[in-house]
Amino acid sequence: MKIQENISLKSLNTFGFDQKARFFTAIGTVEDLKKALTWASERATEVLILGGGSNLLLRGDFEGLVIKIELKGIQPVGEDQDHIWVKVGAGEVWQDWVSHAIAQNWAGVENLSLIPGTVGASPMQNIGAYGVEIKEIFESLEALNRNTLEMETFDAAACSFGYRESVFKNVLKDQYIICSVTFRLKKHPEFHIEYGAIQDVLKAKGVTELSIAAISQAVIEIRQSKLPDPKEIGNAGSFFKNPTISNEEFESLKQQYPQIPGYPNESGVKVPAGWLIEQAGWKGQRTGEVGVHGKQALVLVNYGKGKGTEIEALSQKIRQSIREKFGIELHPEVNFI
Ligand SMILES: Cc1cc2nc3c(=O)[nH]c(=O)nc-3n(C[C@H](O)[C@H](O)[C@H](O)COP(=O)(O)OP(=O)(O)OC[C@H]3O[C@@H](n4cnc5c(N)ncnc54)[C@H](O)[C@@H]3O)c2cc1C
Repeated sequence: MKIQENISLKSLNTFGFDQKARFFTAIGTVEDLKKALTWASERATEVLILGGGSNLLLRGDFEGLVIKIELKGIQPVGEDQDHIWVKVGAGEVWQDWVSHAIAQNWAGVENLSLIPGTVGASPMQNIGAYGVEIKEIFESLEALNRNTLEMETFDAAACSFGYRESVFKNVLKDQYIICSVTFRLKKHPEFHIEYGAIQDVLKAKGVTELSIAAISQAVIEIRQSKLPDPKEIGNAGSFFKNPTISNEEFESLKQQYPQIPGYPNESGVKVPAGWLIEQAGWKGQRTGEVGVHGKQALVLVNYGKGKGTEIEALSQKIRQSIREKFGIELHPEVNFI
């Protein structure tokens, strides 16, 4: 394990904020992870666990130890007639894992193609896209307890997955480091093409026979056309979660805004945060070096020299204006550091 000092995190967070880590190490084994945690606790220094840095808002230099997780490996660990169970190292790049699964014809991850980041962070917020969340293909994970340095296994119930939520983002925040995730994929695919855009792309491409590869490719094309590429403009994807409001609140807003979209769920009606932000006039607005993306109002962007504190201030203004206009509270999806 090698500890480096004063390392720039610019290329390690997709917003591209040029903040420094006072101490930095990249770990490829669980042994080194334990050593790094011990090193930090002996110095009573804070620890930040880093995957691909695609869901982080760095608001300043990090004065403690940044541990970048590079635990690798994709290993089938069981199968039956219909399923295959595969254990994947937390440091594997999510899209590398998706491509591997598709090449083996293992179904279940295709709708989650091209989500940035690492496998280890995927359960943190139960990543989801195009009608699928990882909880649907999740079997279990192994995580290192930061206090005892013991490895513990969590099944889906223990993870308490919700919409962009898990136990690791709230009750057990900063207490565990996810080291591997075991997925349960299908040998005989069940296709999820309920999202209109997927069907439109498949139709436009003349795809008549569905396959997981065709769905993955369609998802990739939709994402590339809709979402800004962090390599070109700094961002962390959706900045806010889509809020759920009560049926009564939704009906009352509908009187005032007949076009308001809403998707009923078990707690009320989910409203797209991007629609609310756009209606409040934020789409394409720029303040100095940060702003709201011109094509997708849910994405806040760094035009190059912006700071995390500027994005934070912008996000607060947006939240306030949504509160005033619609009486709805927005909550960030991105992790503030
Ligand atoms: C262009 C773009 C599009 C996106 N689209 C989607 C989308 O469609 N759906 C979606 O759900 N998300 C999306 N995201 C958000 C992001 O890709 C996911 O949240 C992803 O899982 C983050 O992975 P990461 O490795 O980059 O995590 P990081 O940003 O490095 O970390 C995120 C949080 O998890 C913690 N963490 C990371 N790894 C571990 C670990 N091994 N153990 C414990 N804690 C850990 C970090 O400390 C931090 O709090 C998008 C982001 C971008 C930039």
